[in-house]
Formats: sequence, structure tokens, C-alpha cells
Amino acid sequence: MEIGDRAILACPPTNPNALLEGTGVPQYVPTVEHALATCEQCGTDVWIGPRQRQARVVLGDGAAVLCMVCAIQVQRQRGCVVGHLGGGDGRPRLS
Ligand SMILES: [Zn+2]
Repeated sequence: MEIGDRAILACPPTNPNALLEGTGVPQYVPTVEHALATCEQCGTDVWIGPRQRQARVVLGDGAAVLCMVCAIQVQRQRGCVVGHLGGGDGRPRLS
């Protein structure tokens, strides 16, 4: 299935703080409910959240797991905004 027809699950890469350094964006900390996944486009390791995993189960091949960087590129090509599934209130995963 073409990526253009699929729901994009945009996941933070496992090194987001390196990418965000100097931008003033707060450090990203995954929760204990996040799991590791792989960006389908570039192969980067990403954190996938519980709601994104649920969406993937429901949508099956209709969903694409992408890192934030690839998700933004696809979003630009489509010219539309990617919705947010909410969440972000889980217990932080301690490193
Ligand atoms: Zn990617």
C-alpha cells in the first residue's frame, strides 16, 4: 500500500533530545507504556506510544509507523496536518 494512503503514526526517535538540542523544546521522556518500533521509511528506532499501538492494531496495514522526521516530510507532501491521539500523561520511563 502506498504510504500516501495510510494513517501516519508519527513516533519520536530514540534520540530526540540530540535533534532538539538548542531549539528550546523540553526534553522528551518516553513513558513505561512506550515500546520500541522501527520507522518504515528510514529504519530509525522510535518510541511508539500505547494509543499509537492501538491504532496500529485497529488499522493494520492502513497505518504506517514513521519517525517524526519522515512523518513531517509525508505531511508536507500531503499538505495536511497529522492529528494527535492524546496521551502523554503516562509514568515517565527512567533511564
Ligand atoms: Zn524515519
